[in-house]
Amino acid sequence: MCFKFLKNLFATVLFLICLPSLAQKIDEDRLLKHLEYLSSDQLAGRATLSEGSQKAKIYILENLTTLELVEPLYPDFIQYFSFENTRRKQVYEDAANIVALIPGSETNKVIVITAHYDHVGVGRVNAEGDSIYNGADDNASGTSALLVLADYFSKNRPKHSIVFAALDAEELGLRGARALLEDFPYPMEQIVLNVNMDMISRNDQNEIFASGTHYNPYLKDILEKAAANSSPTLKFGHDIPGTGREDWTKSSDHGAFYEKKVPHIYFGVEDHQDYHKPSDEFGNIQQEFFINSANLILKCILALDQELLQSEKK
Ligand SMILES: [Zn+2]
Repeated sequence: MCFKFLKNLFATVLFLICLPSLAQKIDEDRLLKHLEYLSSDQLAGRATLSEGSQKAKIYILENLTTLELVEPLYPDFIQYFSFENTRRKQVYEDAANIVALIPGSETNKVIVITAHYDHVGVGRVNAEGDSIYNGADDNASGTSALLVLADYFSKNRPKHSIVFAALDAEELGLRGARALLEDFPYPMEQIVLNVNMDMISRNDQNEIFASGTHYNPYLKDILEKAAANSSPTLKFGHDIPGTGREDWTKSSDHGAFYEKKVPHIYFGVEDHQDYHKPSDEFGNIQQEFFINSANLILKCILALDQELLQSEKK
C-alpha cells in the first residue's frame, strides 16, 4: 500500500512538473500545415498585389480572425496602404497588412508581433526550370509561427496586449511595417516591444539569432534566462551599427520600429544557400528545427510578457 501511495505521489509530482512545459507549446501540426500551404506553388511566391498574395491574405484572415479573443484594429482586420516604388517606377495601391489584437489581462501596454507574408513572386528560371520563388523560409516560416502564436495566446491570455501583424511589402522596402506605424491606433510610447520573425525554419548549426538587444541590453538578460540550454541555441548579435551587412538592424520589418525608437527583438537565421532562390521551398526547410525555434520564440515571448510587466510596475 505504501508502495502504491509513493507511486501515485511520484506520478502526481511528475505530472505537476511537466504541466507548464506541456502547456507552453505551439501547435506543431498546424505550424507545418501553414508553411506548406503558404509556400506552395499555387501561391506563386506571394508578390505584393498578386493573385497568390490575395490567396495568402484570405488564408491568414481565416486562421487569425476566427480565434477566440481577437479584435480588429482596422475594418475587417485589414489595414490597406499605398506606396510608390521608385526603383520599379510602380505605384502599389491597396497593399494589405492583416492585423489582430488580443487584449492583455494586466496592462494595455502593447507587444507587437510581426512577420511579413509577402515574397518576391515569379522570377528568373533556375537550372531546374523553376521560376517560382516560394519563400518557404522567407517568410512563410515567420507568418506560420505568427498564426500559431496567436492561436496559443487566444487560449492563454497574455498580460500585455499583443498585436499580431502579418505584414505586406517587406520585400519592397519594409513598406507594410512603415505603413502600420504611420497609422497605428496607439501612441508609440504604448508599444513596449516589437518581436519580428523573418526566416526561422532552417539552420545547419542549429542556431537562431535574437538580434536587437544591443540597443536594449535588459532584453538580453530576459532572453538569456528564458533560452538557457535551448535547442536551437539562441544567439545574440548582428546589431552593431557600422558593421555593414553584418548589422541586421534594418534588414527586415523591425527596422521600421527601430526608426520609431520602439525596442525590438528580431528572430532569424543567417542566410543560407536557398535565400531568395526558387529552391527556398517546403522540401528544404528543417521541420524539427522549425518546430523547436517556434517553441523557443513562444518561450521568449512568455518571459518578456512576464518580466517587462515587472519593470513597468517599478
Ligand atoms: Zn524576409
